[in-house]
Amino acid sequence: QTATRAAPIACPQPKDWIRAIHAYVPGKSAGLDGQPLIKLSANENPLGTSGAAVEARAQVANTALYPDPDSKDLRAALAALHGLDPARIVMGTGSDELLHIAAQAYAGVGDEVLFVRYGFSVYPIAARRCGATPVEAPDCDYGTDVDALLAAVTERTRVVFLANPNNPTGSYIGRSELARLHAGLRPDVLLVVDQAYAEYVAEKDDDGALDLARSAANVLVTRTFSKIYGLAGERIGWATGPVAVIDMLNRIRGPFNVSLTGQAMGLAAVQDQAFVQASAAHNRAERARFVAALEQLGNHGLRPLPSQANFVLIEFSGALTAEAAYLGLMDAGYITRWLPGQGLPQCLRITIGTPEQMDAIATALRAMAQSTR
Ligand code: PMP
Repeated sequence: QTATRAAPIACPQPKDWIRAIHAYVPGKSAGLDGQPLIKLSANENPLGTSGAAVEARAQVANTALYPDPDSKDLRAALAALHGLDPARIVMGTGSDELLHIAAQAYAGVGDEVLFVRYGFSVYPIAARRCGATPVEAPDCDYGTDVDALLAAVTERTRVVFLANPNNPTGSYIGRSELARLHAGLRPDVLLVVDQAYAEYVAEKDDDGALDLARSAANVLVTRTFSKIYGLAGERIGWATGPVAVIDMLNRIRGPFNVSLTGQAMGLAAVQDQAFVQASAAHNRAERARFVAALEQLGNHGLRPLPSQANFVLIEFSGALTAEAAYLGLMDAGYITRWLPGQGLPQCLRITIGTPEQMDAIATALRAMAQSTR
């Protein structure tokens, strides 16, 4: 009798740590029946894109040619705007690429990547992608708890991700808390401060992350053109930090990772700070108005969490559930972000849109809250 041979493995086998990843789930951009809806689910800029950037796109001459691999002009403009050394700036295909390669450069199998519970959903993916273990520190009423983060550091911790302001919660820690977090970390732990929403924070509340990135040997700050610059579709992010860290990221980023049109539009957008200021002012005013409207629904169990970003996370603890509100808003023509996959089935995140959109959403929520017992 012939012994049965073990069946050969019939297809390529992914690494265990890749198999363990749950893919990033973007917000829906259409209703359940496929109808297009007004999208307030991805924290995009309701004012669109700077007119100067749109013009710059029209000037792009020859897209048969590769872009500048080093995005020199764009880096120089960012350096001038923020008082940084251009040699300490690296561009990414969105800040997303930079989060991934920061984890990849500094963490691997056997290491831990730490972040706060309800942190940005890419962090666990970035950790797993390089074989490291994602570790969540407890939150403090949905916000960042510096003591809990520091308590969760182990000898295996290599990277700490902190989104400030955080998505999806909108929570924010100020300069002294961020300094305390940094001071409490070993110097061999890389602190990545993800400032995707930094431009929405009032200047007086600046968390000092860029100052840390200029002076500390273990702080990397990431930023994006996807939010206040209104260029999410172009996929442009950047990071600044110590020369040694920027050098590592440059080694492993995509060689032509910002497109020709992306570089042209990004440059024009940086040079149009009036658009940035108008977007920040719009957001401040509309967010305050929306939060005030939501606070009137407190007796129905709706609680807007404090936000420094261009969205508000609402906790639902009354008869009207977050899921029912999500479906009801979809019926009213709006797509928002319900977050059961992130451990927040009781919450809905709504991007700040135009005044008309925010009025319509507040009206729809009030009607639903009042009619649900
Ligand atoms: N960080 C945070 C906190 C975000 O919310 C986002 C976008 N959702 C990103 C990073 C990534 O943005 P992008 O890749 O478009 O720069």
